[in-house]
Amino acid sequence: MNCQFCNNNLEKVFIDLGQLPSANRLVRRDQLNLEELRYSHKVFICEECLLVQIPAFHKAQDMFNENYVYFSSFAKSWVDHAREYVDKMINKMKLDANSFVVEIASNDGYLLQHFVERYIPCLGIDPAANCAKAAHKKGVKTCIEFFTTKLAQKLSAQRRQADLILGNNVFAHVPDVNDFISGISILLKADGILTLEFPHIAQMIKNNQFDTIYDEHFSYFSFQVVQKILARHGLRIFDVEELPTHGGSLRIFACKSTNKFLKVKQAVNKLLEAEQSQGLLNISGYVDFQNKAKDIRGAFQTLVRAEKGKGNKIAAYGAAAKGNTFLNYCGIGSHSIDFVVDDTPAKQGLFLPGSHIPVVEEQKIKDEKPDLIIILPWNFSTEIADKLAYSREWGARFITCIPKISIY
Ligand SMILES: [Zn+2]
Repeated sequence: MNCQFCNNNLEKVFIDLGQLPSANRLVRRDQLNLEELRYSHKVFICEECLLVQIPAFHKAQDMFNENYVYFSSFAKSWVDHAREYVDKMINKMKLDANSFVVEIASNDGYLLQHFVERYIPCLGIDPAANCAKAAHKKGVKTCIEFFTTKLAQKLSAQRRQADLILGNNVFAHVPDVNDFISGISILLKADGILTLEFPHIAQMIKNNQFDTIYDEHFSYFSFQVVQKILARHGLRIFDVEELPTHGGSLRIFACKSTNKFLKVKQAVNKLLEAEQSQGLLNISGYVDFQNKAKDIRGAFQTLVRAEKGKGNKIAAYGAAAKGNTFLNYCGIGSHSIDFVVDDTPAKQGLFLPGSHIPVVEEQKIKDEKPDLIIILPWNFSTEIADKLAYSREWGARFITCIPKISIY
């Protein structure tokens, strides 16, 4: 196995979560007795370039297809986040009807719809046909394909180079970072701007977010590594923002290395210094992550055992990838947790991968009155706890498990 960026041999393990089923592949009732495919969740760190990665073990085509069940628009805070971004970029870049915006992994049009509203030409690129259909209803044109260098060459041959290219939470999903960034470099106009948002490994390490590791994420990035990857393909980062999304993300702003007008902002050097002081510029900052995950697993198993011993009823909220990694790594399933609530209609009636906990609508909480509700997507915990505040009436308690077990 070799590093997907620098091709160095991969030997050093960052964390091993074992063999887990695909985190977004929910199970139908008639599949419950069939054996699920499991994949190694052994994450390596390249000792040469420090890119943290899972070697691509199944083809991306198997994952982001018409069965893909993540619709961005279901998370309200995420749609608000997108609107703020659009307003900001329109002002900053003075985008208008003559501009062209491309979003990679545009999902259901949650973001580009705001450009459409402002009459700014745009194109979404996303391989999931069902998401593209939902985008189309919002007036967002979508090219149903993976973004690759080949596609970028095709679009630029059609004179469709972009003033702004953006990719939110897609970079970590890319099995070949070199092909992806080289494509962006081709599709970007000489004075164009690229923005990418991705979870920041510094936060993942600091806050024990081992549950963000799942089979759709091939890489976990530090700022320094991203800077190196972009530089190889003729792009230069001139600004960066730290965002609270997904437990702590980065939004980088980049341009062509040949662009003389965009000066490097102070935030860039500040962040490099912060990574250096966290030890992320050498291998020492990446050890001990496994032990932290083991400690949380132990504490969670003890808590669940104690609650079940008292005869308490446990439910969970949020049938997303994070929660599946967490529950399957902890080995907690339908014997302990009665059901998991999720608002996405496409998920209701199905069962979580591995743990086989049934996914139901929120009404079930009102009917069953659980004593404990585990909020699995800890990044939306405030929003979810507010939404479920009525369950305090019968004394329900909420739990989040990352960065540590908290009951409130
Ligand atoms: Zn490497």
